[in-house]
Amino acid sequence: TMAEQCNKLPWPENKWVAQLLVWYKKEQRDFPWRRELNVYNTWVCEVMSQQTSLTAVLPKYLEFILQLPTLESLSQCSEPKLRQLWAGLGYYARARNLQKGANFLLQQYNGLFPSKYEEWLRVPGCGPYTAAAISSICFSYPVACVDGNVVRVVSRLLGLGNEVWEASGQNKIRKFVNEFLPKNAPGDFNQAMMEMGAVVCKKKQPLCHICPIQFSCIAYAKGIVATCPPNKPRRDFVNEKIYGFV
Ligand code: SF4
Repeated sequence: TMAEQCNKLPWPENKWVAQLLVWYKKEQRDFPWRRELNVYNTWVCEVMSQQTSLTAVLPKYLEFILQLPTLESLSQCSEPKLRQLWAGLGYYARARNLQKGANFLLQQYNGLFPSKYEEWLRVPGCGPYTAAAISSICFSYPVACVDGNVVRVVSRLLGLGNEVWEASGQNKIRKFVNEFLPKNAPGDFNQAMMEMGAVVCKKKQPLCHICPIQFSCIAYAKGIVATCPPNKPRRDFVNEKIYGFV
């Protein structure tokens, strides 16, 4: 298995998950949605932060929760008001889907929240990432989240090359995080991986010198962090044109 493969790494002992969780407990940024667990708030935050950083989301999130604190208030919100509350976040379709999701939960679940990943997948606007985030963070459902941050961190841990942009690489990453996901702390593990990607294992200039899982990182050991994962390959239209002309 992937876990066995990782345990064969030449480093003393593979304790990276434990190290990661200790680091997250100590170093996580202080956000209101982390202070008090609330399913509705977590859902709003996860949808808002899909294409936007958490620091940019913060003021919009606070205003949104203040104005629309419940499923009922979100469901009844007028389109202009919803637009105004979403302004600046972009991708307004996400707000519309959030409202559709609120209607769905009110009708199908009597205003309660489901606890399973598979149930959240049926909520309008909830894809695999959002469903995994809410079910694991709020209900300790054992499923791993895979977003851009997680893809980058795992690519580096495993020293992946171009395969990261292919289905085989994406499957490898998904399998890896699901195998290592601690069943007693899936929400913390998911949040820790994303936090790691956001503040330490950053796309540009990652802070390897303070990284708590550096001892398990293949890209670091090989000195290939700067090019791992490689940029997404693009079709080279310029060359195609030249060949056409020749
Ligand atoms: Fe990322 Fe560097 Fe840590 Fe590896 S050692 S996981 S590249 S921050």
